[in-house]
Amino acid sequence: MNVEELGWDPLTLGEIDHRDVCAPYVRLSSFLEGAAGDVTYVYDLRVTQPNNSYLTTDILHSFEHLLLAGFREHMPDSFVSVAPMGCQTGFYLILQNEGRFEEVARVYQAILDGIIAADEVPYASPDNCGQAIHHDLGGSKDLARTLLAARAQWGQVF
Ligand SMILES: [Zn+2]
Repeated sequence: MNVEELGWDPLTLGEIDHRDVCAPYVRLSSFLEGAAGDVTYVYDLRVTQPNNSYLTTDILHSFEHLLLAGFREHMPDSFVSVAPMGCQTGFYLILQNEGRFEEVARVYQAILDGIIAADEVPYASPDNCGQAIHHDLGGSKDLARTLLAARAQWGQVF
């Protein structure tokens, strides 16, 4: 696997020193090639600066829902999962057979544009969510605007 051809800096793969990063960024952290040739890619969508600033849990929660709906809509053939980081500074994204930085960034940007225009948090009902009262759509829109303003630096991890 040549990750440079996919648009990634090979030095940002694997374990990295969280004191050296500059958020927000999109990082390929690992990948796994299966016996049949399919490739699973694991990404960090880092949104706040580690050990410096953190998302509130209601924004983290709403953003998780919004990203889930967005990736399901925009990448139905490759989206596997998105989940919040326990440190409240970002999200883990898992895709199958989509490893191109530009494509991941294009879809992420489209999802963030959609969040700004959203009039509700998806799946925020007791039948779909484990804490349906714990959401913040306005805070999520502010976060989306902050991330979009930094679009030009998403590929720069350090
Ligand atoms: Zn939920």
